[in-house]
Amino acid sequence: MKTDYTSLRSQVRNFSDFYGSAISEAKKQISAAISEMSEANKDLLEKYRKEVALRRKYHEQLVELKGNIRVLCRVKPVLKEDQHEEGQSVVVTTDPNNESSLNVLNKGKGRIFELDKVFQPQATQEEVFQEIEPLVTSSIDGYHVCIFAYGQTGSGKTYTMEGSVENPGINQRALKHLFSEIEERKDMWSYTVTVSSVEIYNEVLRDLLSKDGEKLDIKINPDGTGQLHVPGLRVIEVKSFQHIKKILATARRNRITFGTQMNQHSSRSHALLCITVQGTDLATGSKTTGKLNLVDLAGSERVWKSGAEGERLKEAQNINRSLLSLGDVIQALRARQTHIPFRNSRLTYLLQDSLGKGSKTVMVVQVSALESNVGETLCSLKFAQRVCKVELGPAARKIESGGGHYD
Ligand code: ADP
Ligand code: MG
Repeated sequence: MKTDYTSLRSQVRNFSDFYGSAISEAKKQISAAISEMSEANKDLLEKYRKEVALRRKYHEQLVELKGNIRVLCRVKPVLKEDQHEEGQSVVVTTDPNNESSLNVLNKGKGRIFELDKVFQPQATQEEVFQEIEPLVTSSIDGYHVCIFAYGQTGSGKTYTMEGSVENPGINQRALKHLFSEIEERKDMWSYTVTVSSVEIYNEVLRDLLSKDGEKLDIKINPDGTGQLHVPGLRVIEVKSFQHIKKILATARRNRITFGTQMNQHSSRSHALLCITVQGTDLATGSKTTGKLNLVDLAGSERVWKSGAEGERLKEAQNINRSLLSLGDVIQALRARQTHIPFRNSRLTYLLQDSLGKGSKTVMVVQVSALESNVGETLCSLKFAQRVCKVELGPAARKIESGGGHYD
């Protein structure tokens, strides 16, 4: 027994020695494998960064080629509720072989309009968003972007921007895309997203995210940067896509409340959703600030034609003036004029830093296809064409980009 015991003891001791050295050997092997892996990982991450940078560059070039100011047209489908009205024949037709042209039949004569892109009546919310998506992405990269919906009341502006619960429009899709893009980049960038929302009615600015809807002023920022700011404007930091849904609902509710206080004005005011995206590159610490402004414009119909008076006429004149000045600003930008008349309306003044040089703009012109609306449809398309007229083909842009930041 004693001998057996001693022998067992020595075996156990030997075993633990053997065991210890096996473990330290295994440890060595594992740490070698880990460091090999992390080297490979570093290499992959490096390659990934390069790919991302390349993708962004190509993406920029694509947007640039398509033009920094684009005018799109969306034809509203003829809905059941439109059909019992008179003048229900369809006078607006699209060309299946040419996605940038549109034909309007008026008093027996056809007129063709050329725009950057025309969406057929059956185009889905997703298809419309796809066209805008690159711009939303570039706001994360630090660009200033404006997206406008223009057109007469009932032509689908709010449908395109806000959409319905089952079928959300650009606003929600843009924010969803923004947050998923931020998630995708989280190993390299950290982002802060803030939103504010205002309404401009009769040249008066109101905060759609504060209950009392106090009037606001646009001032020059005292920090000496020359930038504009709106003292007292509520700016909310958004953490998630769920959070933004609540904020959008608040803005919508407030717009309706202000509306009943001032006779049904939602179609006679501009509604703006302004999103700011601040990014920090985790590797270098460099920062970017992008802006995305989503604007549901006031109805463009010419109400004085129906003999409007008093308040209604003043309202109409204000709308007309601000839409005209928006057209003037976009036209001047597209023509690369040196003087851009930002100060002619609250809307363009407020959006000055997002409409200027280096920023990107999309105007979605909404039209009805029905004969009863042909007058307004022609007006909207003339507006679109006036903005579009200044043709900036890819060749012209290339010259500019030669000296710019694209090579
Ligand atoms: P606006 O904001 O220009 O006054 P709306 O967006 O409110 O016009 O549109 C008027 C009506 O037509 C709404 O009931 C809206 O849901 C509907 N509508 C507009 N565009 C479409 C579309 N592409 N598909 C389905 N319904 C639409
Ligand atoms: Mg509307």
